[in-house]
Amino acid sequence: MMNLAAKIRAAGESCGRMDGRLAVRKVKCQGCGEEICSDEDLTDVQYVKTKRGSELFFHTGCMENVWKHGIC
Ligand SMILES: [Zn+2]
Repeated sequence: MMNLAAKIRAAGESCGRMDGRLAVRKVKCQGCGEEICSDEDLTDVQYVKTKRGSELFFHTGCMENVWKHGIC
């Protein structure tokens, strides 16, 4: 299984806090614009890498919005 928290830490920006020894980082949901932090419950968060190499994070419930915006 993919480690989503590690993906967010690699791609996101600092949240200014630590989760144990790891810095917490955040990305924006591409559907609703809300922040997703690497120490949150990520069971409803999806990750997609596009053909152009950009990495997208979004809530499962926001998937339709992401598609509608034509980002992928
Ligand atoms: Zn969202």
